[in-house]
Amino acid sequence: MFDYLIVGAGFAGSVLAERLSGAGKSVLLCDKRPHVGGNAFDFEDEAGILIHKYGPHIFHTKSQRIFGYLSRFTDWRPYEHRVLAHVDGKLLPFPINVDTVNQLYGLSLTPEEVAEFFAKRAEPLGQCRTSEQAVVSKIGRELYEKFFRYYTRKQWGLDPSELDASVAARVPARCDHDDRYFTDEYQFMPVRGYTELFRKMLSSPRISLALDADYHELQRTARFRHLIYTGPIDAFFDYRYGPLPYRSLRFKFETHPVERFQPAAVINYPNEHEYTRVTEFKYLTGQKHPFTTVVYEYPCDQGDPYYPVPRPENAVLYRKYQALADADPSVKFVGRLATYRYYNMDQVVGQALALADALCDQGPDSAVNAA
Ligand code: FAD
Ligand code: UDP
Repeated sequence: MFDYLIVGAGFAGSVLAERLSGAGKSVLLCDKRPHVGGNAFDFEDEAGILIHKYGPHIFHTKSQRIFGYLSRFTDWRPYEHRVLAHVDGKLLPFPINVDTVNQLYGLSLTPEEVAEFFAKRAEPLGQCRTSEQAVVSKIGRELYEKFFRYYTRKQWGLDPSELDASVAARVPARCDHDDRYFTDEYQFMPVRGYTELFRKMLSSPRISLALDADYHELQRTARFRHLIYTGPIDAFFDYRYGPLPYRSLRFKFETHPVERFQPAAVINYPNEHEYTRVTEFKYLTGQKHPFTTVVYEYPCDQGDPYYPVPRPENAVLYRKYQALADADPSVKFVGRLATYRYYNMDQVVGQALALADALCDQGPDSAVNAA
């Protein structure tokens, strides 16, 4: 009899397995995939290049607590992510900054002049509800059309006017020369990759792993006292109110016999092609190798559920499932799919640590510090 069955060995499930085993509990951690790490899983491809099976994962956080916690399981390599967008035949810094505007229009504006440039074009709106409004109210319609509108339509299969403001608001517009994708204080990649981080996190003898094991099968035979579930919440409740929309991706990997394939880690293609972006992994991992591997991301509806789709009607449907979840205190729901939140890895780790604190009935810092 295990104290806990945890469904899903991504960040949510693995952090909880680590915390609970550290508090003396026995844990059965299952995943229907043949590996740990969830969507952050990485491995060496045939050419020996470390790649991310489910798309590029870059770690960044503002939280000292989360960074400190994960640092128990890995050394880090400092890495600041940079992206170029292919617009009007040019490769331009993205998020949009002073240099983007100058290179796009052949200008030499100062940061103050770029602030004026944005202000003149911005359409003043009260409260922004949609992603279209979030962008147009800051930088105007022309830059919105060039950089955001069609990328978003490809990525989500929806117009930005149909998506919550929070989606496009993930990407700022800047009146300086900062060309980093993220500005968080902690921006690092795990030196030996995410999978190694997970292996260390899950090394306690009190954790038993069941891979290639679907919860719906396992629950018939496994014996456990408490359940933590990190898969899609609608699947848990047998789609009682209908399926929650999740956006998926198809990945196309290519290995090339060259050191470098493209001039930045990621190139976004807002306006051409069926794919949204191309990522060259060696920038992220710092690996030295005479070959290089890139991945093309093709958004689609069918396939693994990768992205919850933030829009009002989906929030309403999610709240119905959440009410079912709240009514059953014997199961805890945590993670990006189970709480239907467009969370980054650090936010999922934070959510899992908070649940671990509550379950271990300790103060917020004692759970993390109790090693
Ligand atoms: P997951 O990693 O999805 O883990 C859930 C696990 O549950 C899965 O392994 C699944 O197989 C398993 N499961 C589901 N149902 C069952 C079942 N019935 N039985 C058994 N197992 C089951 N975040 C960042 O911080 N930086 C990035 O650069 C970044 N890039 C991303 C790029 C892409 C393309 C995607 C899709 C996401 C990206 N993210 C990024 C987000 C990141 O992947 C998530 O925040 C994080 O992995 C979520 O962890 P999780 O444990 O909640 O879910
Ligand atoms: N986005 C865009 N153009 C871009 C990059 C992003 O319109 O070149 C929008 C798009 O809607 C995307 C959202 O901003 O889904 C968030 O971008 P982010 O890079 O954070 O997406 P993720 O890495 O989570 O796929």
